[in-house]
Amino acid sequence: MQERRRIRSSHISSGTNARGRRGAHRRSRRHRVGMLAGFTALALAALTTASGSPIATRATAGPGSAQHDAVLGPCRISSKPGAAVQMSEGLPTNTGYAHSTGVLHALNLMVDFPDAQGPGPAMSRFHEFFPQTARWFRTGSYGRLDYRPETPVRHWLHMPKTFRAYGINRGSPYEPGYHRLVDDIVKAADPEVDFSRYDLVNILVTPNAGPSALDTVLSVTFSGNKDASHADGVPLSNMSFVYSRQDDGSGSYGSTGYRVLPHENGHTFGLPDLYTSEGGGSVGHWDIMSEDWGADNDLLGWHKWKLGWLDDDQVSCASSSGALERRLEPLETRGGRKMIFVPVSGQSGYAIEVRTRAGNDDAVCRPGVLIYRVDASVDTGEGPISISDATRNSGGCTRLPNVQAELSDATYQPGQTFTDRADHLTVSVLSKEADGGYAVRVTRP
Ligand SMILES: [Zn+2]
Repeated sequence: MQERRRIRSSHISSGTNARGRRGAHRRSRRHRVGMLAGFTALALAALTTASGSPIATRATAGPGSAQHDAVLGPCRISSKPGAAVQMSEGLPTNTGYAHSTGVLHALNLMVDFPDAQGPGPAMSRFHEFFPQTARWFRTGSYGRLDYRPETPVRHWLHMPKTFRAYGINRGSPYEPGYHRLVDDIVKAADPEVDFSRYDLVNILVTPNAGPSALDTVLSVTFSGNKDASHADGVPLSNMSFVYSRQDDGSGSYGSTGYRVLPHENGHTFGLPDLYTSEGGGSVGHWDIMSEDWGADNDLLGWHKWKLGWLDDDQVSCASSSGALERRLEPLETRGGRKMIFVPVSGQSGYAIEVRTRAGNDDAVCRPGVLIYRVDASVDTGEGPISISDATRNSGGCTRLPNVQAELSDATYQPGQTFTDRADHLTVSVLSKEADGGYAVRVTRP
């Protein structure tokens, strides 16, 4: 079902902006959900805890960082100060999100209700998402994120009220339903859980609570949430809730159904939604923040840099006039130069990277050079990133279920050139090397 898979999750972020801005964001989110009511689902989301930005940390670490800062400075695009962008693609990522490198302790709690009792053991629900989610992060981060899923409570936590009583729907804000639910979860878990030990919390709700994900995706993350309930002296400001099962009946649920969780956790690290009210047409299957159903996919190089999974010396910043030639290695493999960024203003620019079928990227059917525009002044869910399609209206090269087809062959091949006439820049793919790398030339006036 086209519509069904086009819009699946959404995300609510709070806590990094003034209260008034959060309110405005929620109003617009509800409006959008209203528009989508005919089709789909949502995952919502967003809380943040208090840890520094990984990019900021990396930028100040190690010799040579000052030099990289000077060279890469124009490529660290950001929204304008004071702009009402709640969750931006800009660098550095706002503080308050979970740290995305090093050891991460993820608390997992399985929850059921009197009107939706957990079928089977709670640990079966946990194993729908693990170890796959931890493996996905390890692969995508080249081993930089050591995601440790922990289950100090291995049985269902029984909520005192029915699921219906909490009044949770797609797009529900934290108040009042989620606040009440989190308070009841804390009450039930507190005797067995020290919440202060964890960097983020996953609430794996019994799959029979609420509507089917085929009709409405309720899954959501609250990140950077300063209104969050406290437990053991810490705010539970980074929490992902997963509902139902993203099972389209194609038989792939066992291998790909977990992918809603790395999407939701992406929000806890500060990544925005890349699908819009129009669906996944901006980015297609090139990032899990765009599509988290269907075959496995990776993150864009921009997101990997933002998360601290790429070093500064793996990124080239084409900010000067003239030509810049660089060789790029496939993003999915470890090491080498991965991305060229071409800033066109303080808020936006183009990223250039090589994608092949390797690592987390199972759906790539036309390996090549991917070019996309990043705009730090565009908010989550409003289209902050757009892929440039080298083969417009081709219909794409994949027929995998739940993979947006049109952009699947968006990559540029040797001999092809991307041109942005407004900004007077071109990106030419010069050659493909025998070992999988591509030579690329950027020219700008
Ligand atoms: Zn989302």
